[in-house]
Amino acid sequence: MQYKKDIFAIFEKFNETFFKNSLNCRIKWGKKYNKQRKRCIRLGSFNIKTNTIRINPALAENVVPDYIVRYVLYHEMVHAWFHKNNHKDKLRHCHNFKFLEKSFPEYEIASKWLKENKKIFITAC
Ligand SMILES: [Zn+2]
Repeated sequence: MQYKKDIFAIFEKFNETFFKNSLNCRIKWGKKYNKQRKRCIRLGSFNIKTNTIRINPALAENVVPDYIVRYVLYHEMVHAWFHKNNHKDKLRHCHNFKFLEKSFPEYEIASKWLKENKKIFITAC
């Protein structure tokens, strides 16, 4: 990937590669969170009302591999796609969702890393 953690460039590329350029949602880095106070954080989210994907800025840190950012962004794009196509399961991780998610080329490596490194994102309460 020629763009290192450039979510806008990755979005363009994924939109073309996986979604036939059908997604028109907005995309932004979320606000920095206060590490001391949160027990766990959301890596990404998709807001139906504002049609916006938000990626947690913690993912921009160097300890996080680039493929994690790509994976989280792709995951949220699947939500956006389900929403756009009025899928009844658009916000849940239903069978269809998981099927699409697993078709992401870096799914295996990303979920393995997340499993092993969750503690980076979860601080003691
Ligand atoms: Zn999700």
